[in-house]
Amino acid sequence: MDMDFDRHHLWHPYTSMADPLPVYPVKSASGVMIELEDGRQLIDGMSSWWAAIHGYNHPVLNRAATEQLERMSHVMFGGLTHEPAIELGKILISLLPDPLDSVFFCDSGSVSVEVAIKMALQYWRAAGKPDKKRLLTVRSGYHGDTFMAMSVCDPVTGMHSLFSGAVPEQLFVESPSCGFGEPWREEAIEEMRQALEDHADTIAAVIIEPIVQGAGGMRFYSPVYLQRLRELCTEHGVLLIFDEIATGFGRTGKLFAMERAGVTPDIVCLGKALTGGYMTLAATIATGHVADTISGGDPGLFMHGPTFMANPLACAVAVASLRLLLSGDWRATVQRIERQLAEGLAPCVKLSAVRDVRVLGAIGVVELYHPVDMASIQKRFVEYGVWVRPFGRLVYLMPPFIISEAELVRLTSAVCEVLVEEYG
Ligand SMILES: *Cc1c(COP(=O)(O)O)cnc(C)c1O
Repeated sequence: MDMDFDRHHLWHPYTSMADPLPVYPVKSASGVMIELEDGRQLIDGMSSWWAAIHGYNHPVLNRAATEQLERMSHVMFGGLTHEPAIELGKILISLLPDPLDSVFFCDSGSVSVEVAIKMALQYWRAAGKPDKKRLLTVRSGYHGDTFMAMSVCDPVTGMHSLFSGAVPEQLFVESPSCGFGEPWREEAIEEMRQALEDHADTIAAVIIEPIVQGAGGMRFYSPVYLQRLRELCTEHGVLLIFDEIATGFGRTGKLFAMERAGVTPDIVCLGKALTGGYMTLAATIATGHVADTISGGDPGLFMHGPTFMANPLACAVAVASLRLLLSGDWRATVQRIERQLAEGLAPCVKLSAVRDVRVLGAIGVVELYHPVDMASIQKRFVEYGVWVRPFGRLVYLMPPFIISEAELVRLTSAVCEVLVEEYG
């Protein structure tokens, strides 16, 4: 592979063009294994950022893609429709709580967040309250890299200062301070309650990742927070948007994390694992009430329509991925992964560099006191034959659901051993 070209001409996520960290050339990937160009096999601990729940090169998903490819890979969604979109829409609506019944397909998670926010703004315009256009959210959130999405990411670890003046200013309150499994403390939602009470007349929506705050810190919080938040939003006339892009499709042990709280948002964003990690596709699903209100206002249309909206190839793979997930016993699988992650990562607690170890569903997190040295730790993991990509102070695992017990043991022991080497 022309690594020199890569180094000098291709941007990778969050990297410098002048002095990029090393990247590893991948030849192919199959099951839970990623094969590097030099033949080394790495056990995947990342599911390619929450996405590849069935692993790589899955025969069922491959077949869905090739069969769709032979019919058509794409047609525009303006004025045309197709079976993969209809089928996927039906499945999503059947899996989500009843009022969520109006599906907007779009390109990526960030775009689905833009779409959700645009829906909220159009909703209030149509409802005769055009002043409601700010967003309220919690610190430590992550909702994507486009501008509106950035505006609701954590103001410190996000990019607010870098783009200040260009990123819209939103309202922030403390992140949910009552951990998952901790007894509920009413003061954990006090600041949120106060913000809603003070600013409801200018707030269009609250946006939040249910139960698990992902890229903003891998924090797990109490389902009661979401129950209270739902009540408060209803009481103050503010829409509630759940960003389930990372948590959707079984990752937290429920099909959707919101099920832990038993509450329904007005709008939900899905992405990442939607296509089993095969290609980019996301969806924003609103309640019939939100959709009807937008449609009843001026101009009576929802003003968004990406070129590759409801791409048939992506929809067909998503349908196959969801059927595959639902036809298997994913609950038992995720429980088994949860148990193994908890056992396997527990020894890390003893290390002086480690601040916390926590596990929920198929997500295992080791939080350190200080950021890792990325170049060196990445190299060590590759030498151990695993693919683990920490960020900041977090070393975490979210393996494909198809991982075997033995493979998962290799992942968790690699994390323990590499942390002992680096910090022991
Ligand atoms: C990854 C992520 C996004 C952004 O999705 P992209 O497909 O990367 O644009 C938004 N919200 C959450 C919670 C995510 O984890």
